[in-house]
Amino acid sequence: MKRQLIFLGAPGSGKGTQAIKLAGDFGYVQLSTGDLLRSEVRSESDLGLRVKEVMDAGRLVDDDLVLELLKANCDLSKQNIFDGFPRNLEQARALDLKVLESAPHLAIYFELDPAVLVERLTNRRSCTKCGAVFNLLTQAPRQDGVCDECGGDLFQRDDDKEDVIRERLRVFEGTITPVLNHYKGKGCLQRLRATDPIETVYEELKKILSL
Ligand code: AMP
Repeated sequence: MKRQLIFLGAPGSGKGTQAIKLAGDFGYVQLSTGDLLRSEVRSESDLGLRVKEVMDAGRLVDDDLVLELLKANCDLSKQNIFDGFPRNLEQARALDLKVLESAPHLAIYFELDPAVLVERLTNRRSCTKCGAVFNLLTQAPRQDGVCDECGGDLFQRDDDKEDVIRERLRVFEGTITPVLNHYKGKGCLQRLRATDPIETVYEELKKILSL
């Protein structure tokens, strides 16, 4: 069975960016619960309509709903990166029991000073078409509002506004410690300095994964 990766870190810690790079270079599958939920919201499905308000407020969506969505999109014959799940201890336990079962896994914690995160997130812009992510300060698109990759329009996520960001960080800080202890207790936690530039973090990540 292929080893599964679990990326842990605050919103804006860069775990999504690194997951996309690993997917492009080594064929990993990025399973971002945030992306799955946003796609439900866009499609105006029943689930999307139910979770929109919670997401816009920066709070966590119901554990069982997210777990169902994750299971429906997870194929353990692939090498997946769980990005944004688990967010609390209950989700970590559910991931072990109901998704991973006996699959080998490694959790990687993207560590970062919370002060940096607000600046990163308020400057984040995403492509409406291909999902590429930019940062107006560190990784600006060549043309204002236009995606370098596909020419699509860039937008700012509703939950990347400053007051919502502060709520998301508050939620993160209130839930992450038991999750880290869970993986530490199982002997499968690695920490990564996520303050460094994208390429440096990527090199470090590849070292951890022996790639
Ligand atoms: P993200 O793109 O990971 O920052 O997630 C955006 C939003 O989606 C979060 O603020 C939550 O409202 C929701 N969400 C994503 N993943 C989860 C999860 N594992 N559990 C609960 N809510 C989640």
